[in-house]
Amino acid sequence: MTVDRLIGRDGGICVWCGRAPWRADLTAEHLLPRARHGHGLAENLTLACRRCNRRRRTRSVAAYVRAQIDAGEHPRLDLLREALERLSRSASRRHAQYARRELQLLGRL
Ligand SMILES: [Zn+2]
Repeated sequence: MTVDRLIGRDGGICVWCGRAPWRADLTAEHLLPRARHGHGLAENLTLACRRCNRRRRTRSVAAYVRAQIDAGEHPRLDLLREALERLSRSASRRHAQYARRELQLLGRL
């Protein structure tokens, strides 16, 4: 899925910092990171600015949300939950299980 289609679907906002940067500064963000064998499925993708994408590295969604909150930052939990809900309905059982677990962890923060 292209960044332009993700902007159409998700609104062009970085899920981590909440900014709406220029198009060229947005990148497809894998909820289940590629380094953890996350695929480029439409439901595994959302949007992040390049800076946040780099800063997150390969951390899980909940682990990075926790790090951001500890640092006094304000990740877009509403957008992240919506994206994880979508991923939890993935036909890929592995991706769906990851999403359900991350939603559980977010619920405890
Ligand atoms: Zn950002």
